[in-house]
Amino acid sequence: MSKYLALAIKQAANSQCRYRVGAVLVRGGRVLGGACNKYRNHPIIDFQNASFHAEEVILRRTRRPQGAVVYVARVDSQGRPLLARPCERCQQALAAYGVVRAHYTTATGSASMRIAQPASQGARY
Ligand SMILES: [Zn+2]
Repeated sequence: MSKYLALAIKQAANSQCRYRVGAVLVRGGRVLGGACNKYRNHPIIDFQNASFHAEEVILRRTRRPQGAVVYVARVDSQGRPLLARPCERCQQALAAYGVVRAHYTTATGSASMRIAQPASQGARY
């Protein structure tokens, strides 16, 4: 497991959510920041929109994520890694901010995916 995924696992361990997810953004070997998911509404009141996903939190916090790689980890209550593939909403947000690849934990190790960039990307920056 890469040291950045290990950092993402540490971020996930800080989460107060039922699904504990952490993310770390890295570019050129430099860690731009880390975050875990957060409740924004009480899950009893608004289950569908109960949390900010870790990827969304980190995108809000990082000034220039263009060209970065995101490492996403989810852990169970014992701190063991689980599947943390970014959801569709986060994939779109990552693409819009120019993040090019996601590495994520699985129950048996890790996996990685390319983030499809929007066609209009060239004009945005
Ligand atoms: Zn998500």
